[in-house]
Amino acid sequence: MRKQFPYTLFFSILILIFMIVAPMIIIKSMPVKASSEEDNSSSISENNNLITINGSENIKVYITKEDRMEEVPIEDYVKSVVSGEMPASFSDEALKAQAVAARTYIMSKRSRPCDIAKGGDVCDTTHCQVYISKVSRLEKWEDKATENWDKISKAVDETKGKVLTYNNQLVLYPQFFSTSSGMTENAVDVFSNDVPYLVSTESKGEEIAPKYESEIPFNINEFVNKVNEKYPEAELTVENLQGNIEIISRSSAGGIKEIRLGQTKVKGLDFRLSFGLNSTNFEYTISNDQILFKCKGYGHGVGMSQWGANVMAKSGSNYEEILKHYYKGIDLKVIKFKE
Ligand SMILES: [Zn+2]
Repeated sequence: MRKQFPYTLFFSILILIFMIVAPMIIIKSMPVKASSEEDNSSSISENNNLITINGSENIKVYITKEDRMEEVPIEDYVKSVVSGEMPASFSDEALKAQAVAARTYIMSKRSRPCDIAKGGDVCDTTHCQVYISKVSRLEKWEDKATENWDKISKAVDETKGKVLTYNNQLVLYPQFFSTSSGMTENAVDVFSNDVPYLVSTESKGEEIAPKYESEIPFNINEFVNKVNEKYPEAELTVENLQGNIEIISRSSAGGIKEIRLGQTKVKGLDFRLSFGLNSTNFEYTISNDQILFKCKGYGHGVGMSQWGANVMAKSGSNYEEILKHYYKGIDLKVIKFKE
C-alpha cells in the first residue's frame, strides 16, 4: 500500500518556518541597516546646494543639571546656542557666522552623539556647545530681552538651514573659541589631529577683547605641589623649580605645544587645562615666592575666533567671508532632512 503524504506535518513545518525563521532573518537584518545609515548620516544631493541629513529636524538636548531630555526644532536650538555662545551686542554678520558654525556642529552630532548626553544628540554645556532655553535666556537679559532675542533670531533666520561642508562632506569639526592672540592655531598643534580646514590664519584687531591678555599667579609652593600631584614623575621642588620648567616647542601661532616640568614633558593643552590658564599662548616669570603666567587669547585657538569674527564684521565682511577666512576651503550648503 502506498504511504500517504503527511500533509498535516508538512504544513505544520511550513508554518513553523514562517513563524520562527522569517522574523529572525528580519530582526537580524535591521541593525545592519540602521548602523550603515548612521555611518553615512549625510550626503550631498544632485543640485549641489543641498546636503541631505538623515533623521528628523528635532534635536535631543540633554539638560545636564536637571537630568532630563529636551527636544527642540533645529532652528530654535541654534538660536538658543548663539544666544549662549556670543554676546547679543556683536554685529549681525558675526552672529550669522556663529549660527552656521553652531548648526554645523549639531549636525555633526548625528554621526557621533555626545557620550554624556544619555542617548541625546548633545549636552547643554561647554562639553558640546552652551545651550540656554529661550525662557531662561530672556530672564537673564532683563530689560533688553526682546531687543536681543529679535536680533539673534533674525540673524539665525537669515542663515536658515546653512551648514559648512568640505569636499562635499559635512564639516565634522567646526571649532570656535572666544579670543585669539592675533593668529589662530593649527588643529594638529593643539589636538594632535590634522584637519585640513582647521589651519592657522591671521586674526586681527582682537586687542579690544576683554580676555585678550590675562594673568594668573601661583604661590610657588602651591604650584610645585600641584605639578607633582598631577605629574608625579616631574619630581619638582621649590628649590629646583628655576631651570626645571622649560618651554620645549611653540606653534607658529605662538601656542605652547610642549613644556618640560622637571623630569617629564607635558602637552601645552594639558598644562593649560590643569592650571586653568586662558590659553596655551603664555609666558611665565618666577620671582620670590610666585610664578606668574601671562596668557594671550582665550580658548583653544582652533577654528573661528568669535572676537575676530566680530572685528571682521565691523570692518564690512559678511558671514560667508568670515567663515571662509577661519575655515579654509569650506563651502556652505543647505540642509534637507530625510526621515
Ligand atoms: Zn556633550
